Amino acid sequence: HCASMDSYTVLRVIGEGSFGRALLVQPKDDSGQYVVKEIRLPKTHSGQESSRTEAVLLSRLKHTNIVAFRESFEADGHLYIVMEYCAGGDLLQRIKQQKSTLFSVDVVLRWFAQMCLGAKHIHDKRVLHRDLKSKNIFLTDNGTIKLGDFGSACVLNSSKAYAYSYVGTPYYVSPEIWDSRPYNNKSDVWSLGCVLYELCTLHHPFQARSWKSLILKVCRGAYPPLPNHLPYELHYLLKQMFKTNPRDRPSLNTILTSHRISRLLQKHL
Ligand code: ADP
Ligand code: MG
Repeated sequence: HCASMDSYTVLRVIGEGSFGRALLVQPKDDSGQYVVKEIRLPKTHSGQESSRTEAVLLSRLKHTNIVAFRESFEADGHLYIVMEYCAGGDLLQRIKQQKSTLFSVDVVLRWFAQMCLGAKHIHDKRVLHRDLKSKNIFLTDNGTIKLGDFGSACVLNSSKAYAYSYVGTPYYVSPEIWDSRPYNNKSDVWSLGCVLYELCTLHHPFQARSWKSLILKVCRGAYPPLPNHLPYELHYLLKQMFKTNPRDRPSLNTILTSHRISRLLQKHL
């Protein structure tokens, strides 16, 4: 297929952000549906390069639990990234739909195990996602988890990994970031801990009325206890993922292999 919007029919707008729009499209020569993220390219060369990073990194990541890249192209000052459509919507929506009915432990573990596999693949490629949150984690129509929105991602050890400025929701930000220390793979683990906690309770682990008290809670790693019916392993895992020193937090590899949680997760894959 040729790389241009001419080869797609736009079905509808499905998301709008500071970057531009997300469109649901259908290729004119096949019946599938895809999402096109249409990103306004900034005027400066360095701004353009950082916008392109999202397309470059997504194109390098191929995994069942990562939104699949199809192609990208540029036209009229915009960058277009064509990717797999996740018809099940994002996890934040799913959490809100529950009202106050908790997800079963089986569902929590199945989704979390898939997130870990996707995130492990990212880290194995020396990429950091840097914006893992329930709103950026999607479900396909058959219920498979897909990590998406690589708009904040970077390559580990590049100079950019240190110049981190967070613009989104602050609930998933780890203690080291508030402390102006570099973003690292364990900061993504913290954020995934926040998503796991949300799946278990339907609430954020760290919440407060002011920024100041939010940051204090995060930096103390102080979160309301999990419901008692959850298996001991989940209590233990979250405690590890919310260690305030990133060195004490498990890597995804540890969570998926040598950790005592791994046996529980493997059963759900
Ligand atoms: P940003 O958060 O930077 O605005 P996202 O990549 O998260 O950009 O996309 C914005 C919104 O578009 C998402 O919150 C979601 O509602 C929708 N969206 C993005 N990508 C997909 C996708 N692959 N499948 C389904 N919906 C998507
Ligand atoms: Mg997003």
